Amino acid sequence: MLKANNPQLSSWINVPKDSDFPIQNIPFGIFKTSNKSPRMATIIGDTVIDLQAMAEMGYFNDLDLIKSVFSQKYINEFMALGKPKTLALRDRIAELFASDNTLIRDDENAKGKIFQHVSNVDLLLPVQIGDYTDFYSSREHATNVGMMFRDPANALLPNWLHLPVGYHGRASSIVVSGTSLHRPKGQIRPNQEEPPLFSPTRQLDFELEVAFVVGKSSALGSSVSTEAAEDYIFGLALFNDWSARDIQSWEYVPLGPFLGKNFGSTLSPWIVTLEALEMLRVPGPVQDPKVLPYLEYSGKNSFDINLDVNIRTEKGAEKNVCHSNFKYMYWTMVQQLAHHTVNGCNLRVGDLCASGTISGPTPDSYGSMLEISWKGTKPVAMPDGSERKFINDGDTVVMRGWGERNGVRIGFGNCEGKVLPTL
Ligand code: CA
Repeated sequence: MLKANNPQLSSWINVPKDSDFPIQNIPFGIFKTSNKSPRMATIIGDTVIDLQAMAEMGYFNDLDLIKSVFSQKYINEFMALGKPKTLALRDRIAELFASDNTLIRDDENAKGKIFQHVSNVDLLLPVQIGDYTDFYSSREHATNVGMMFRDPANALLPNWLHLPVGYHGRASSIVVSGTSLHRPKGQIRPNQEEPPLFSPTRQLDFELEVAFVVGKSSALGSSVSTEAAEDYIFGLALFNDWSARDIQSWEYVPLGPFLGKNFGSTLSPWIVTLEALEMLRVPGPVQDPKVLPYLEYSGKNSFDINLDVNIRTEKGAEKNVCHSNFKYMYWTMVQQLAHHTVNGCNLRVGDLCASGTISGPTPDSYGSMLEISWKGTKPVAMPDGSERKFINDGDTVVMRGWGERNGVRIGFGNCEGKVLPTL
C-alpha cells in the first residue's frame, strides 16, 4: 500500500472535522500570493503547502525529480514525470507531515516558508488543458434528456448502450472554481411558430460532472486498453459544465453541442490523484447488452463519491438541489478512455475528460436544473421564498464531492461559480 493511503496515518497539521483534505488525500494544485509567483502546492486541512519552497529546501532531493516542475504555472510537467515519481512525492509528503515526524514540525523557519492558510492564497487553474472531451455516461441523465427533448418511449438512442457517447468540447473557457461568468447570449427559439431571437439565455443550467486529467501521452495511431487506462489517469476534480438549454436545443441538430456549452465550465482547484481514491472503489454497473471486447474490463472501476449541488442566492440563502454519486455512471472512466483511443486518437498530458452529467435514479439525485425542474415545469422553492427553474443572475452554484471509509474522508474542495448579468 502507498504510505499516504494508510488509514491509520494522522498529521501534526490541524485537520478540521469534515475537511476534504486529510493526510491521506494530498492533491495537487497551483497557488499564488501577493509575494509568491504561481507554484505547485498540496493541502492538508486548511494549510496550503508550498512544494516549490520544499523542493528548494531539499526535502525531495533524493527523489530524482526535476525541481523546475514545482515553479510552473500548471502541474502538467509534474504529471508528465510519471506515476512512479509523482506517487513517491505523495508518499514523501505524507511521511514529512505525519504525526510522528518532527523534522518540519519543530522548524519554525521552514514552516514560515512552506505554509499558507488557504484563505490567504489565490488558487489557480491547476492544469493547462489541452483537449477537453465531454462524455454523456449517466444512463439516468441520457434517459431524462431523451424523454424531454425527443421521445419518452425511446429516450435512449440506439448507440447509447453500446458505446460511451461523447463530443469534443472547448478548453479555452474552462476556469477555476471561484471565477464568475457572465450569462451567455445567443440564438434561441422559444416559440416554434416564430423565427429565432437573439437574447441572453433564459435557461442557464449547471451540469454536475467529475472530470479526469490525463497524465500520460499515447502515440497517434495506438489505442489504450481498459486494462492500461488507469495508468493514463493522473487524477480527478469536480466539474460544472455550464449549459444554456435554449441555445443548446435550437443549435444541436445535427452536430451536437456548440455555443450552448462552450461559454464556460468550472473546475475545482485540486487534482485528487486516482490513488487517493483507491479506498472508494466499487464495482461498476451490470452492462446489458454485453459490450464489445475492447470495452470489457475487470475489477472495481467505479468510485463511491457523494456529489452535492447547492444554489446560493446573492443574499446568501443556500439550498441543496441535488445529492448524487459518481458510482451511478453507466460507463466507467477506463471504458471512456479505451473508447476515446480505439480509433488511434492520441492522448496528451493535460487533456481533460468529463463524465457527463451524473444523475441518479431518483429526482433528488438529478444533476442538472433541466431535470430537477423537469424543463421548468417543477420549480424549486428557495429558502428566501423565490423559485428556480434555471439559474438566475447573482446565483452561485456550489458543487461538493467526497467519499468516506474507515473514518477517512477524501474530498475535492468546492467547485463554485457565480453568474453575473450578460455583458
Ligand atoms: Ca456535459
